[in-house]
Amino acid sequence: MSTRTTFNTANTARLTSKPAPREGAFGNATELICRACGAQQPLGAFYACNECFGPLEVAYDFPAITREQIEAGPKSIWRYQQLLPVAADVASIPNTDPGFTRLVKADNLARELGMKSLWIKDDTGNPTHSFKDRVVAVALAAARELGFTVLACPSTGNLANAVAAAAARAGIRSVVFIPEDLEPAKIITTAVYGGTLVAVQGNYDDVNKLASEIAGEQPDWAFVNVNVRPYYAEGSKTLAYETAEQLGWRLPEQVVIPVASGSQLTKVDKGFGELIKLGLVDGAPYKIFGAQATGCSPVAEAFREGWDNVRPVKPDTIAKSLAIGNPADGPYVLDTCRRTGGAVEHVSDDEVRDGIQLLARTEGIFAETAGGVTVANLRKLIATGQLDPEAETVIFNTGDGLKTLDAISDRVGPTANIPPTYDAFAAAFPSATQASAAQAGQESL
Ligand SMILES: *Cc1c(COP(=O)(O)O)cnc(C)c1O
Ligand SMILES: [Zn+2]
Repeated sequence: MSTRTTFNTANTARLTSKPAPREGAFGNATELICRACGAQQPLGAFYACNECFGPLEVAYDFPAITREQIEAGPKSIWRYQQLLPVAADVASIPNTDPGFTRLVKADNLARELGMKSLWIKDDTGNPTHSFKDRVVAVALAAARELGFTVLACPSTGNLANAVAAAAARAGIRSVVFIPEDLEPAKIITTAVYGGTLVAVQGNYDDVNKLASEIAGEQPDWAFVNVNVRPYYAEGSKTLAYETAEQLGWRLPEQVVIPVASGSQLTKVDKGFGELIKLGLVDGAPYKIFGAQATGCSPVAEAFREGWDNVRPVKPDTIAKSLAIGNPADGPYVLDTCRRTGGAVEHVSDDEVRDGIQLLARTEGIFAETAGGVTVANLRKLIATGQLDPEAETVIFNTGDGLKTLDAISDRVGPTANIPPTYDAFAAAFPSATQASAAQAGQESL
């Protein structure tokens, strides 16, 4: 067995006591609160409640914040620094500056689906081409303040890219764990950043379990979605803030969001709620819809069955970025979608492929499988009467199709393959060449 990487286990002892975070390290954040029982814990490297082991989330005491203050900020997620658990100088510390991606008015797709007003929040424009750059940037900032020196994660692919890139930019080490059967493109686009990449013989849920075990043994390592998860999760709120700001400080009536662990969906709801509370948008109601692939649809199943908890499944879908069989935020997704009047649906892998092609053909946007899941679910939600085609809707395109080419490689290709002669072209496209001949004839008259 080759040992290209040796972990320094000797450093474990020196790490148990980290320096206290500096003043203002977490901005307006005040403490961590248990989402299950409401118990409070100080801001620190905690992710499970002392009382009930429930998940923790960041709580704030916001000052008055104006639209103008935000609009004067950088064109990245850091314009919302006051709403995140990060220090006021966060933008000046080397990071990937993700966010402020485009919000595209999708009139062609809307027409195709019989919708009145549809927008696509296109997060393929992030530094590593997925929404994960947002959450990693916030996790990295927290990890630094908390004295961690290594950035790590278990990943379904996009998080691996984002962690490896952010660590490279920050000049620290990364250790990333992935299921060995990940798409080749996601392996290459992680390995290129030069960190440690560990392929694990198992599915994501196996990888996640292993990561939790290692996190317990390596006090120097910030596993972005494990031991600094409360901070990581806050990064997803920026999707809500940007969507509202780009709509002219307005909330959409409906949002469709792909669900893996469910963190993103629940934090978009939190973000909308904060904007309302701060008076930055008016409090019009909105509905949140979750989108899954049938081969990994434990949350959609629980939604349909009326359960409060999610029954874990063994994932089997081309939507590997969403292939989490035991989603940590499952119960909170159910609560959010039920409370807002939304739903959680699922679509087959063939529908995912159709969704990718439909989005590309109508809007010129090439989504990865997760985007195909979202577009296909949008179509299904309309067809089943769960989503109102007359109401203003935003869908989140969270990742780039260039990373999941295999999903559609047997469906698309050259229209023709011809020798380099006009006759061959004319033979291959008789109608096109006849039309142009007729037109040319007319012009010469
Ligand atoms: C991780 C991921 C998601 C889902 O994120 P969760 O917060 O775990 O639900 C959605 N889309 C893409 C492309 C992802 O990589
Ligand atoms: Zn608790």
